[in-house]
Amino acid sequence: MSFMPEYDVIICGAGPAGLATGISTLFHNKKAKVLILESREEVGEEKCGEGLAEEWFKHMKKFGKYLRSNLKPKCFENEMFGVIFILPNGERIVAREKKSNGWLLNKDYFLKTLAAIFKKMGGQLELGVNAVGPVMKNDIAYGVETHLGNLIRGKCVIDATGLTQSIWRKALKIKEPIDRNDIEICFQYKVEDCKIENPDLIQIYFGNIIAPGGYGWVFPKGKNRVNVGIGCQASRVKNVLPYQERFWKILDLGGRIVSKKGGTVATFDLPENFVWSNLACVGASARFTNPIHGGGTGPGLFGGYILGKHLANAIKKKESIEETLKKYQDEIKETRGKRHEYHYKAKNLLQSLNDDEMETIFSSMTPDEWLRSMNFTKREAFRIIGRISKKNLRLGLKLTKYLGLS
Ligand SMILES: Cc1cc2nc3c(=O)[nH]c(=O)nc-3n(C[C@H](O)[C@H](O)[C@H](O)COP(=O)(O)OP(=O)(O)OC[C@H]3O[C@@H](n4cnc5c(N)ncnc54)[C@H](O)[C@@H]3O)c2cc1C
Repeated sequence: MSFMPEYDVIICGAGPAGLATGISTLFHNKKAKVLILESREEVGEEKCGEGLAEEWFKHMKKFGKYLRSNLKPKCFENEMFGVIFILPNGERIVAREKKSNGWLLNKDYFLKTLAAIFKKMGGQLELGVNAVGPVMKNDIAYGVETHLGNLIRGKCVIDATGLTQSIWRKALKIKEPIDRNDIEICFQYKVEDCKIENPDLIQIYFGNIIAPGGYGWVFPKGKNRVNVGIGCQASRVKNVLPYQERFWKILDLGGRIVSKKGGTVATFDLPENFVWSNLACVGASARFTNPIHGGGTGPGLFGGYILGKHLANAIKKKESIEETLKKYQDEIKETRGKRHEYHYKAKNLLQSLNDDEMETIFSSMTPDEWLRSMNFTKREAFRIIGRISKKNLRLGLKLTKYLGLS
């Protein structure tokens, strides 16, 4: 093994979470020595619906403003104003906001821009380098081993490898496979020259025939381009492709399919721990992805912002990395924990519903309530469950139980 220079922070993975961690560390401490290792030959989108809610930039405060002002308009391809929910019986519920609430990104360009910002700030990005695992001594990670056999030494190691979770699982010697109840297997087409009726609204298709334990999506990237995909609960479906092919036929959008890609999304509850001594994980690797819809870009950026902020401070003040990473974990739990738990329970509930129950719930809520459903307070949830109970008492009781409101 050869030895290379020491870094303050070594980040494995240049997705949204890894890049945000690197940029946030340097944003809060210009002098930090930060290295990102990326196993692919270039940074960029592999497979993603490319939706991003605007609220994430607000949650990141000054850092969010900084990022937003450095991301060119080309990163944000299409503004979104809401959702059309399509129920199993074909009924459409249109939930439109007055102001735009997010975008369909050009995620490839978005990530390449983040990488450019990171490098401009003095960060080091190494492409085509696979981090095969942490190098441990007495349960402390003091570096990363690469596929070339190099040992890169760092004061802390950050696993931002997405759902592969290759670094922390190796450090903790975890061999059990991930629970397939909490995984969605997805397939997506990118389509050009097609017909879209409402290019400013995303479309979500529910139903156990369309997508068991998941949903189908149509995300417009403009007037005649869309991302069309299906995600199904891995424990219920072996092969998602037939579902995607049937969904595509039903949609009848015309146009040309320019790419076909499969992938997985995590829909876990937040773990008890995502830091261990001087090793931490962030983004999809730390299971920050929203369990209801599988959106992980925003949670990855946010997690990276919080982690980078704490790391920068610790490096500046020469504080203990172990204590710093605990602060990061505490802040994530404080800011996202309760909401994430609620989303996880709601996801389990959605996956337990038959199509009739789904329709009863949808028909009991106004479009405006659907727009706010991700952020319901207990009181709002109770009010809606009251309405549902009048139609179907058993379903009302089921909702109360699943959402832990009893
Ligand atoms: C079909 C599909 C559609 C989706 N649609 C959306 C959507 O519309 N909106 C949304 O918000 N989210 C969506 N997601 C989820 C989203 O893409 C991820 O949750 C998000 O990208 C997670 O970011 P991350 O940085 O944690 O991980 P990733 O984006 O997975 O990045 C991890 C990076 O680490 C690299 N890497 C992995 N292992 C190693 C290693 N050992 N050494 C070095 N590098 C390594 C990978 O090459 C990759 O670049 C979708 C996912 C799929 C599969």
